[in-house]
Amino acid sequence: MILAANLPGILYPLARTACLFSLLFLGACGEQSVLVELSGETMGTRWHVSVATSADKPSEQLTALIQDTLDQVDAGMSTYRPDSDLGRFNRAAPGQWVTISPQTLDVTGIALRVAEQTGNAFNPAVATLVDLWGFGPGELGASVPDEAQIEAALSTTRLDQLELDSTVPALRKLSPMQLDYSAIAKGYGTDQVAVQLERAGLHDFLVEVGGEVRTAGEHPRGRPWRVGIERPQRVQGRAIAALSLADEAVATSGDYRNYREVDGRRYSHTIDPATGYPVSHRLASVTVLAPTAVLADAYATAINVMGPVAGLAFAEKMALPVYLLVKQQEGFEVLYSSAFEPYLQ
Ligand code: ADP
Ligand code: MG
Repeated sequence: MILAANLPGILYPLARTACLFSLLFLGACGEQSVLVELSGETMGTRWHVSVATSADKPSEQLTALIQDTLDQVDAGMSTYRPDSDLGRFNRAAPGQWVTISPQTLDVTGIALRVAEQTGNAFNPAVATLVDLWGFGPGELGASVPDEAQIEAALSTTRLDQLELDSTVPALRKLSPMQLDYSAIAKGYGTDQVAVQLERAGLHDFLVEVGGEVRTAGEHPRGRPWRVGIERPQRVQGRAIAALSLADEAVATSGDYRNYREVDGRRYSHTIDPATGYPVSHRLASVTVLAPTAVLADAYATAINVMGPVAGLAFAEKMALPVYLLVKQQEGFEVLYSSAFEPYLQ
């Protein structure tokens, strides 16, 4: 049974069990451990954690630890919260320094690095465009934006206009700009939960936040964690492929859940920062494996922007395990990078 029935993302843990403490096994020291399944809500989506822990560890404490960790990421990086670091930055006038948390500094550094690596296919300064196309916190227009609006919003995506003071830490823009970390924050939250679980002495777990996944160790049954890549469709469907994971992260990007329809045309929530328009190729879903969920999340969005041909070339150049589903007249064409091959067994 799949417990995570309403995931917006397309990755989900396979063979979830519906009840807590449902699987018993003996740990290395002979002490009894159980598989605990925890879940909650964060960042406008749900999180699920499967963790092997000793039977006497109260799951309420673990749930609170995970929820606090994710709430902290959301409080700093949500564009929907006026008081978050990004909320304050987005409202600030050019030239004005805005203090940020060490976590937001961390994510900013990663976002800028991935932007550089991907030739700005991933661009955290895409927020004004995201809003314009109706996927941000701003008001949703009834129609699609016109050329002049897109042109104006494009001028706010220049990352050389962003300054970072890593000692305070603080951020400022030199000209109008808004930041959006929605394509990276869930991955970062997933990694932060993994850090907290390790600190709590737990080494075998699967963390999933809105479809971004990080695994450590193994399933209590003594096998790798297994994650399904879902068939892209509006409602959650069957797995099209299954991955066995050890200490890894995997994320997806796709437009089949989060899109808008205006006058019968479908608009993706992934924006190409080079044109200012939502991506419109036939790539239905991008799955990326990486050592951390934050990188997998950011690269998945970037490859979704690049499209199947440039996306696959980028994956080869970076030796990234990447799996693509490309829409055909009927069904999907499967494409993957060389580094993904070992995961197909
Ligand atoms: P999902 O939320 O389905 O996992 P992503 O991780 O790809 O998808 O994040 C999509 C979100 O990222 C969009 O809703 C938007 O807020 C933001 N975004 C859109 N295009 C870009 C881009 N080119 N670079 C960075 N962020 C983007
Ligand atoms: Mg992403």
